[in-house]
Order: sequence, then C-alpha cells, then structure tokens
Amino acid sequence: MSQDCVFCKIVRGELPAAKVFEDNEVLAFMDINPVMKGHTLVIPKAHHDPITKTPPKMLRKLITLVQRIARAQVAALQADGINVSQANGVTAGQIVPHIHFHVIPRFASNEPHRNWTPATYDSPEEMNDYAERIKQALT
Ligand code: 5GP
Ligand code: ZN
Repeated sequence: MSQDCVFCKIVRGELPAAKVFEDNEVLAFMDINPVMKGHTLVIPKAHHDPITKTPPKMLRKLITLVQRIARAQVAALQADGINVSQANGVTAGQIVPHIHFHVIPRFASNEPHRNWTPATYDSPEEMNDYAERIKQALT
C-alpha cells in the first residue's frame, strides 16, 4: 500500500468509487473521467507499478478480469468494440502510478478510434535490428 496513491485510497475506502467487481486481490471500478461511458479500470489491490515489476501471477489475474469486464460491456452496453489500454511512466502518458488497465467500450455509432499514428521503419534491416535487440534482452 502507498499512503498517497489515489488508487490505494480507493482500495482502502478513503475515496469513493463505483465498483464493478472485487475479490481479495483485484478491483474493477468506473473511471471518473470516461473516454466513453462505461470506461472501467482494473487494478490490483496491492500497490504494484509499473508492468515490468508486477508479478506475472498478478498480471494473469488482472488480464482475466479485463476479459470479464470486456465481455460484460458487450453484453450490458452492446459495445461493438473494446479498447484495452495500459500506460507505464509519465512518458507513456501515465498519470496514476499504480498499475491499471483501461477497458473502454466502443460503439459503431461513434468515430472509429485509433490512439496512435502508424509510422514506418527506414528499412527491413532496421526493423530486424529492433527485433533482434528486444529478442536478446528477453528474460
Ligand atoms: P492513466 O493516465 O494513469 O493511465 O489513467 C489514470 C485514470 O485514472 C484516468 O483515466 C483518470 O480519469 C482516472 N482517475 C484519476 N483519479 C481518479 C479517482 O479518484 N477516481 C476514479 N474513479 N478514477 C480516477
Ligand atoms: Zn497504489
């Protein structure tokens, strides 16, 4: 637990939240500023951050709940699509430094959503070089 962390405060009941699901280890609740109505956050109750330091066992629990929330958004809200987003670090746009997955329902009546602009590699060799560097660092 982190004293000042907003999501730890929600876990401790010190801040209100519209909860969707909780068990001993994980919690899903409404994002207070939804990208789309129904936007849900999935977090561990223990303070973990970022994804690189979160235990794989916890990540499995989190992604399983993400899937359940996505299925519920399709069933209950008639979502036509779902975005799952997860940011690590200020550079990546993260605001709350307690690992969380955004589960965002999307609807055919809205504009198609893309949150990044595709670019290109300078050459196939450059792409292979990036692949090789990541491959060599895998643990
Ligand atoms: P990030 O940018 O860190 O990936 O996303 C943090 C998210 O937490 C934002 O979408 C923001 O709206 C949400 N958020 C921040 N503070 C609160 C809060 O006190 N309650 C709830 N329910 N959501 C919050
Ligand atoms: Zn926290």
